[in-house]
Amino acid sequence: MGHFYRLLTAAALLAAGCATQQTGASAVLPAIAISAPASGNWIAAYTLPAPATELVFDRSPDASRTVDWKAPEGFEIIRTDAGERVRRRDGAAFSEVALSIPPVYRDLPKDYGPFSPFGDGGILTYTGRFFACGGPCVDYGWRMKLSAPGRSILMDGKVLSGAAEWLDGDSGRNIYIGETRTVETADFIAVIDNALPGAIRSQLAEQLPVYLHHFAERMGALPARPMLFASYDLAHRDGFGRQGGTLPGQVFVHFYGSAWPEQMAKPGFAEDLGWHFAHEAAHLYQRQTYAEDQTGAWIHEGGAEAFAALALRSTGQAEAANAIVAAAAGKCTAQLAGRSVHAALEAGVFDVAYTCGLRANLALDAELRRVAPKSDGLYSAWTAYRKRVEGRAATEEDFMATVASIGGEATTALLRAMVASSTPDFSF
Ligand SMILES: [Zn+2]
Repeated sequence: MGHFYRLLTAAALLAAGCATQQTGASAVLPAIAISAPASGNWIAAYTLPAPATELVFDRSPDASRTVDWKAPEGFEIIRTDAGERVRRRDGAAFSEVALSIPPVYRDLPKDYGPFSPFGDGGILTYTGRFFACGGPCVDYGWRMKLSAPGRSILMDGKVLSGAAEWLDGDSGRNIYIGETRTVETADFIAVIDNALPGAIRSQLAEQLPVYLHHFAERMGALPARPMLFASYDLAHRDGFGRQGGTLPGQVFVHFYGSAWPEQMAKPGFAEDLGWHFAHEAAHLYQRQTYAEDQTGAWIHEGGAEAFAALALRSTGQAEAANAIVAAAAGKCTAQLAGRSVHAALEAGVFDVAYTCGLRANLALDAELRRVAPKSDGLYSAWTAYRKRVEGRAATEEDFMATVASIGGEATTALLRAMVASSTPDFSF
């Protein structure tokens, strides 16, 4: 649980890449009007500029729309090999259809949760779940409307009353509907569920600005104040878990299921949660930079883990950070099971990106500070890496070249050995 966002990166990058082809008006892009009543199902009404024989969903990680979503009389939602779509039962073309959608959380494979209900009555919704086209999506740029009579809408840092209109695209965004009062500082805007235990709420409100400030000082301020959403739904009946994620300028975590009060009372929970948020905050400052290849995930996930360790260490939580680092070291060795980091990632043992990635990146940080004392270690590497790959997909080689530019070829050679050797030495 909780390490879900890692799998979203490829899809997110794909969508971002397609966005560069955006042409604005397109015969296949519908206008989408969403109505969100305070109770009962939501309605998403799609209006195509020209008739099409099917409405194809852009993100279709499973077949759950065919179960949860309801099409009107004469229409059906079906799953094909190429994903879910809406068709008329008689096969005729159509230009309008309205779908009925229960606003409930779903644990979607490799995708963001569509709805995250707050225990205090609010709800977070992920707009990418609504994206669809008259045929397979090629262009990205939807005219969206949201109506939530009598309720507040928080979108892109602004509070609106009852209605919103915007142009959406790329990987979409999260929008909050509800009356939870935001917690705001110069560095962030947060919506923290009032249903969360008070100790957790105050921990989040205190620690997050500290982490964000820590990263902003070392990796540069973000273009807009980031938003944090923390939702807590004990009423969720279908299992128990925590899903976290980031989208540009947004960090979110959803706790669901009735087992949480017991979990939250366990020793170490507060420290783990602080680490988790520091990790997610670090992703914001990585600014969606990551190596596309599966075997390069140790760079951005291990990097976010290392940034969490560095942030906790520099904000008076060294003991907690060191305990988590020590535990990760043991897990790394067990997960590698005699393989290299690359081989384990190739075999789909994704956790090594975190556990061994943490070790590799902490070792790299220390080595860069030793051989390039004027650098800021891993922070300098990431700032240079981001600039090197700006506007294009990154590869592991980009990261290696960046490390060489700061720490020299010898440092890169050690780093290469660390991820390629079946008996890696993470000490440098
Ligand atoms: Zn991550």
